[in-house]
Amino acid sequence: MVILDGKKLADEMKTELKTEVFGLKEKNILPGLAVVLVGDDEASRIYVRHKEKACHELGIQSFSHHLLENVSEKELLNLIFKLNTDKKVHGILVQLPLPKYINETKIIESISPEKDIDCFHPENIGKLFLNEPRFLPCTPAGILALLKKYRIEISGRDILIIGKSNIVGKPLSLMLSNLNATVTLAHIKTKNLKEKTLSADIIITAVGRPGLITADMVKQDVVIVDVGMNRDVNGKISGDVDFEKVSKIASHITPVPGGVGPMTIAILMKNTLTATKNLCE
Ligand code: NAD
Repeated sequence: MVILDGKKLADEMKTELKTEVFGLKEKNILPGLAVVLVGDDEASRIYVRHKEKACHELGIQSFSHHLLENVSEKELLNLIFKLNTDKKVHGILVQLPLPKYINETKIIESISPEKDIDCFHPENIGKLFLNEPRFLPCTPAGILALLKKYRIEISGRDILIIGKSNIVGKPLSLMLSNLNATVTLAHIKTKNLKEKTLSADIIITAVGRPGLITADMVKQDVVIVDVGMNRDVNGKISGDVDFEKVSKIASHITPVPGGVGPMTIAILMKNTLTATKNLCE
């Protein structure tokens, strides 16, 4: 069994990106990422901290905007409009989920597509759909980079994705189809999930339910990518897969933490540099 070491690959990618930042600085271009956090959701604060730390490691300027839970939608929109025109800001990240009273779609659509390094804006999703991407969505692109690094064949394989969110499952299904995989996109209403997991060559699970995938649900030498991030009462993180038992059957498996999470951040940094180059070169 081989561990798909996302931490190691993300570190390698960050080393390369650091060199790119250096090259941009020689041309007097300083990449900048604005990070917007609303409220004090513990998990969101941790994700934002990781992203700001990655900027710091790479020499990317990060502008933190931590807003109070009761900020109005109008105030948030005003901030985004300012960031859209700020020449020092090349990427804008609004950490989701936003508080319920704020219209998330409206906020995402207000971000300049050229600075939408998360690839959430409808224009960027449309470009991805047409296979002419401006940016690649971070988690799906991180997963593809990891599979590529470990030379896992995609073309012609039966790939089961569990979870059909706009940020993971849906864009990933599109990207894998473009690579000629036969993709099944499962979700909460899927019937006979076990039948589907047992026949899949590759299972990618993005649900957020610990213990969802157990050893009796997978075939010998399956490849497992676990996107799930479940925090227990002690703050310990686990994925959707029973790692201990499933890893004895799988040919390749991602750990949680240390698998998909660090890859997501590395791609976010890569997208920030893409945005910087698109806007400044
Ligand atoms: P989400 O929370 O928006 O939706 C969950 C999906 O799982 C839905 O499509 C739902 O239909 C499906 N689902 C729920 N229960 C199910 C069940 N019993 N069987 C089959 N399907 C079921 O999805 P999300 O925002 O993509 O997040 C999913 C998980 O991935 C969360 O744990 C999240 O923290 C994690 N995540 C991790 C990263 C990373 O970088 N590692 C990035 C994004 C999300």
